[in-house]
Amino acid sequence: MEQEVEWLLNGVEMIYLGSCHCEKIKFQIEAKKIYENIYKCNCTLCKKKSILMKAVHKNFFTLLTGVKFLNSYKWNKRIAEHFFCNVCGVYTHHKRRRDPNQICVNFACLENVDLPNNSIIEIVDGASHD
Ligand SMILES: [Zn+2]
Repeated sequence: MEQEVEWLLNGVEMIYLGSCHCEKIKFQIEAKKIYENIYKCNCTLCKKKSILMKAVHKNFFTLLTGVKFLNSYKWNKRIAEHFFCNVCGVYTHHKRRRDPNQICVNFACLENVDLPNNSIIEIVDGASHD
């Protein structure tokens, strides 16, 4: 709860659009610092996907179009839900297991954002919770 309040009080957010490759799925996130809190996870699934993710509170994630093209994958404890496009196969976002109030998006799906070279990528130790 405390963390939720913090998210909501974070001030003016910027809107970023994202999509899968075939653009059937489009979403937006609101974030204040788009290049912060970018992470990779070393669990068996994320390792194979090799993705950079950005976490936002679920209130700051909106699916704009494409709900009927959205497939999801659950595994292991089946708490996290990983969404991908059933046309082009691109992973777009997932509901986070460690905090179900958070949505993580595939950073590479975001439009007009290029990660600066000196960005700090956090490594989340998902492998220990496989
Ligand atoms: Zn697609």
